[in-house]
Formats: sequence, C-alpha cells, structure tokens
Amino acid sequence: MLLLGLGVLAGCQAAPRFEAVNEFGRVRADKLEVAEDIAREMQAVVPRILELLPGASARKTEIWVEDDFHERFGFGHVKGAWGVSLNSRIHMIESSSAPKALLVHELVHFLLDASWATLPALVEEGLCEYFEYRLGERASARMDGQRLAWLRAVLGDAHYDLRFQSKHPSLGLNLNVNGSLSVTSPLPGPIDLERVFAFGQEELEAVGMGIERGVLYGFGHFLVLSIVEGRGLTGLHELCLRAEQSGLEQIPSAWLLDASGLGASLDSWRRALANRMGELELMELASSSKEHLVELLIEQARAQYELSDGLTWLRMSGARISDPVTGISVRLIDIPGVKVELLQRW
Ligand SMILES: [Zn+2]
Repeated sequence: MLLLGLGVLAGCQAAPRFEAVNEFGRVRADKLEVAEDIAREMQAVVPRILELLPGASARKTEIWVEDDFHERFGFGHVKGAWGVSLNSRIHMIESSSAPKALLVHELVHFLLDASWATLPALVEEGLCEYFEYRLGERASARMDGQRLAWLRAVLGDAHYDLRFQSKHPSLGLNLNVNGSLSVTSPLPGPIDLERVFAFGQEELEAVGMGIERGVLYGFGHFLVLSIVEGRGLTGLHELCLRAEQSGLEQIPSAWLLDASGLGASLDSWRRALANRMGELELMELASSSKEHLVELLIEQARAQYELSDGLTWLRMSGARISDPVTGISVRLIDIPGVKVELLQRW
C-alpha cells in the first residue's frame, strides 16, 4: 500500500501467466480465476472512483496479482507492503485478507492525475485509505474502532473500563469487579502533526512497514475524512490546485490542518477522535480484544464461584465495557464473538 515512482525497475520481468481484460485495463495472475475475480472487482470499482474523485484519470490500468513481488522487483525495503502502485502498473499480493480494499487503495494511487501532485505523501495515503474504507469490503467511510483506538492511544486516551456486577441471591453471587482494557500507543513518542503531514515519499518510506506506518496512515485517513466531511473531495483537490498556483511543491501542513477544522492542537484531535468512538466503534474495539476480555472474565468469575455455565453468568452479570472519556458503554454479551469465545473457554 504505497506509491513508488520506480517504473523502470519492473520493465523486464515476465508477467504472470493468465490474463483477464475489462474496459479499464487488464489483470494478470498465476491463476485464471484470480485474474477474473480481480478484473470483475476492478470493473465495478473504477467507475465509482472516477465519479467521486475530481482529477482522476481514466487511463488504462494493468494489475499483476502474485504470491509475492518484493524479491523479484528488488522491493526488499518495502517488504510487508501488500500492494505497490508504479507508474506503469499495480502489483498486489494474492493472499490479502481484504483484496477489494487493497485493490481500491492501489487504484486511487494509480488514477490520481498530475493535478494532485502537490498532495503530501502521507495525505495521499490517507486519501487512498479513505477510498479503501468507503469502496472496499467495509463499504463505509466511517473509521473502525480498532483504528480509532490506536490513534487515540497515540494522543493519550488509552484506557477502557471493564465493569461487571453479579447479584444473584439464589446462587449466592454478589460480585463486583473492575478491570480495564488498555491500548498501547504504537508510536515510540508523541506525534507532530505538522511534521508528518509534510512528509515526502522518502520520509514515509523511512518509517518502515510495521504498525507505526499503519498508525500514520490512520492519521492521514482521519485528516482526509475531516476535510472531506467539511469541504468534499473537491475541497481537498482545490488545496492541491491552490498550492500549485502558488508555486509550492506541496500543500503546507497548516493549510491541511486548517481545512480539517481541527488545527494542529493535539487536544482538538483527541476530542474529535473521542467523538467518533460511538457504541459501534467501541464494540469493534472490544471484539478485536475478545480473547483478552473473556480471559479476564473467566479469571475473575470462575475462580471465585463454582459456576458451570459461563454464558448464564455473563447474562446475569451485566458486564459492560465503557469509554471513560465519553461515558459510552456496551454490554459484553452484545459484542460479536464474545459468546462463542466464552463457551469455548469456560
Ligand atoms: Zn498506499
């Protein structure tokens, strides 16, 4: 999921064996069904991108889908990337867990025309992520709870409370336990928003391909989401054109932060991120930590009471996880996957 301006490197490599063609270009893969699947998705998604994105070019796209492309193209330095958009072609790894999202992300890189040239590298990633969410498997521009929690953890909001009370006289239960779920900040230190939104391609690549990069993409995504909600994709595109007309190489961070309505203050970002964490997002976060939550429940409840049925206990206890910043809380029993996990492990 990154953009490289290294078209020459890919010039003399043998293409994957099978090909599927559509009106927007071609897809090559080692298996025919893979080429056909991706070509079908591409046929569906390219018109949506062209319709939504000002300054998108309808140029023919070639996509190669393979087991791995890093070694054969000498992309060892971006090992871990699921896709790469070159000048001439998109490369994708076949085993991606969200192939549609990956396809959308790389297509947006590929289809941006020269009018987007002043968009800083991380903000371009944010734009691709925005489309990845909106047109990929999630089919929603809404940011998910796991990503929100990471961004919030970077800004200091890292703790969620787990509370449950069990009162059931016939079983002699009167349990009141507090626990917590903490999200570790994936960045080694505080974030400087003005700096990261001014990153060039080399600075972004220097971050490596681990979780830290994913979190930076998340900040790019949140910036784009905020700008788009206020001014539309046209508003973001206008910033590019204004920077170009002003003779600037890229849009200054200050313009972007201003356009987002959030400014450069970490406090206003912290508040805005917290406001996005509704019940649905809190459930998504809790669901991604369900093993940990269930382990905690079992540890606290089963050790103290001779109960044979964890699900009954969960119903009686009314266990909830809550966000201390917003006060929003959800019942553990409603969180996807918790019941199954509890039944398996109790
Ligand atoms: Zn990318």
